[in-house]
Amino acid sequence: RIFYLNGRYLPREEAHVSVEDRGYLFGDGVYEVLEIHRGALIDEDRHWQRLDRSLSELRISWPIGQAAFGRVLREVKARNKVENGFLYIQITRGAAPREHVFPAQNVRPSLLVSARPVDPRKGEAQAQKGIGVISLPDLRWKRVDIKTINLLPNVLAKQAAKEEGATEAWLFDEEGLVTEGAASNAWIIDENRTIHTHPVDHSILRGITRTTLIDIIAAKGYALKERRFSLAEARAAREAFITGALSLVMPVVRIDGKPIGEGVPGPIATELRRIFHDTASRTL
Ligand code: PLP
Repeated sequence: RIFYLNGRYLPREEAHVSVEDRGYLFGDGVYEVLEIHRGALIDEDRHWQRLDRSLSELRISWPIGQAAFGRVLREVKARNKVENGFLYIQITRGAAPREHVFPAQNVRPSLLVSARPVDPRKGEAQAQKGIGVISLPDLRWKRVDIKTINLLPNVLAKQAAKEEGATEAWLFDEEGLVTEGAASNAWIIDENRTIHTHPVDHSILRGITRTTLIDIIAAKGYALKERRFSLAEARAAREAFITGALSLVMPVVRIDGKPIGEGVPGPIATELRRIFHDTASRTL
């Protein structure tokens, strides 16, 4: 595998970062995960915009310009021969002696880009069965709208899910309202076929898949409420699903071991997944 690191394309064994990199010392950095589908970079502009916003919220400057960045993404994809899979992009504030305050202006932010193939049949097989989620308190900081590399609560939540035989964790706040998944946005569909998902604010990441799916839902004429829903509502829902660049639209069939609806992928979630697959932004 070939990694792009600060201007060079290197095999994994040669791609080294400084022990003083602030990503390593403080988690002082941001990232993006972008799907590669039949060689195309899905929703590239939206990912660029979100990365730009994350950087500006943390006052980290871009290490390279937008056009050069686009060329790097394509080069990493090509050098790793990935037709279906994803790109991982990480930018940290750079390397400097360990001090909490920002380093001097001449420290250059560090850019890492890698690519990995994924067999699309795996996701399909998973979507046919649906996934289980567990519920856990949302222990994250109050600005998870910024896509930072500080993912310890997410790591612990995903691990807990795995240990309970589930795939994802749905996080709930002090009021018992579901914010989102550990690495995805959370959705339910009620008895009246209305779709519910948490509104955009500082307590969720504004998923690119979420944004694209909202367009699809509008075009399809389904009712959508961007509102906070409770765990109790989720348990009583007719259908549930998650969205993310890796899972796309993935039906949820169990919460905390108990079935949602019939305990099988629901018709609306399944249809939305299919339409998401066929949508123009995913084709060359
Ligand atoms: N929420 C969290 C916490 C995530 O980590 C992710 C993606 O990794 C998402 C939501 C979904 O975002 P996207 O659709 O842009 O992948």
